[in-house]
Amino acid sequence: MRFLRYLIFLFVIFFVAFYIRENFYQEESQKNGILMDTFINIHFWGKDSKKAEEICWKVLESLDEKLNRFNTKSEIYKINKNAGNWVGVSGEVEDILRKAKHYAEISDGLFDPTIGPLMRLWGFYNGSLYIPTEKELKKTLEKVNWKDLEMWNGKVRLRKKGMSLDLGGIAKGYAVQKLLEISKNLNLKRVFLDIGGTIGVYGKALKGDYWIIRIRHPRREGKIIGKIKIKEGVVATSGDYERFFIKDGKRYPHIINPKTGYPSSEIMSVTVISSNGITADALSTLFFVLGEKGKELWKDKFRDVGIIMVNRNGEVWKSENVSFEEEK
Ligand code: ADP
Ligand code: MG
Repeated sequence: MRFLRYLIFLFVIFFVAFYIRENFYQEESQKNGILMDTFINIHFWGKDSKKAEEICWKVLESLDEKLNRFNTKSEIYKINKNAGNWVGVSGEVEDILRKAKHYAEISDGLFDPTIGPLMRLWGFYNGSLYIPTEKELKKTLEKVNWKDLEMWNGKVRLRKKGMSLDLGGIAKGYAVQKLLEISKNLNLKRVFLDIGGTIGVYGKALKGDYWIIRIRHPRREGKIIGKIKIKEGVVATSGDYERFFIKDGKRYPHIINPKTGYPSSEIMSVTVISSNGITADALSTLFFVLGEKGKELWKDKFRDVGIIMVNRNGEVWKSENVSFEEEK
């Protein structure tokens, strides 16, 4: 009898300890900062959360050293500086360039990682708008063409002098994807990543069964257009409200249509939801250029991603496969 009571006592103690550990004591680790020319917030839960945070931060630093065109130590900087000549690159840079070329190819060049010269011409690199002449545009357009980005045997070349790579449309998604994969290998309980607004989530949500991702309203400060519900995956948004210029009442966003040379002002914002970060990021940039034409293309080609689009009049359209609650 005494033994039985003892056993029950032990069992209760064990159960209470387990309950407290599961519900109140959560190992977690978080870090904020600026890397890759953007704000970063990474948050991990689980036994190896600290380890994950340290590894992931190092990965982000190394991606900055590889992909950031403003970092004079980076490989992309080197490729740009030596445009016209072959430059040896790491396997990782070769990999991301192949992926960027893939999106250029399937978008018939509307997504173009060689957009650099146009970004510079319009003043997006030095922060002051310059409205180019038709002649300048024509000349600069000759320096923008993903087909002139060549890769061979661990080497990369931009075919013409004056060309330059800008991976701003894909690098954040690439980083999110890489961090998600690292986290999965570490068996973490849950992960939340925000790399300059490209959001990646994994594992059981903090509350309820779904992660709720709030999408900013492109015009109303502090307001949202609605909430997305996902179990895991990546949410990337391209909009005309974060990096842009306004002149004479006209808005010039930092995403440029490589066919016309002009900043795209088809829509106010587009959000892409995908199980893959690279896809989400590259397609958000592409759909921003496409604007409302993107709806048709989604039906024909991109049904495996979800899309939420805010058009020029502020009207919201969503593809039927996203769980999205619009804020009225
Ligand atoms: P954000 O940086 O606001 O998250 P995006 O993911 O759409 O938005 O990336 C925009 C960036 O993509 C620009 O700052 C520039 O670096 C690059 N970019 C601009 N136009 C294009 C384009 N047509 N194709 C590919 N990249 C582009
Ligand atoms: Mg993008």
